[in-house]
Amino acid sequence: MSNLVEDINTIPICPFCEAQLNTIRYQPLVGFLGKRYVYFCPECKKVLGVSHRKGFWMG
Ligand SMILES: [Zn+2]
Repeated sequence: MSNLVEDINTIPICPFCEAQLNTIRYQPLVGFLGKRYVYFCPECKKVLGVSHRKGFWMG
């Protein structure tokens, strides 16, 4: 079991291009399974994760 710690001082880094992710972009993707949100790096455009719900990471 891991603890969830809020950290507002560290800027996340993209695992692909190592850009600092001050913002993460997302766009809705509508398919036969319903609506999904695709999150991607604004620098290299690689996908960081997909969520069922807006704002719910990897859900
Ligand atoms: Zn990137």
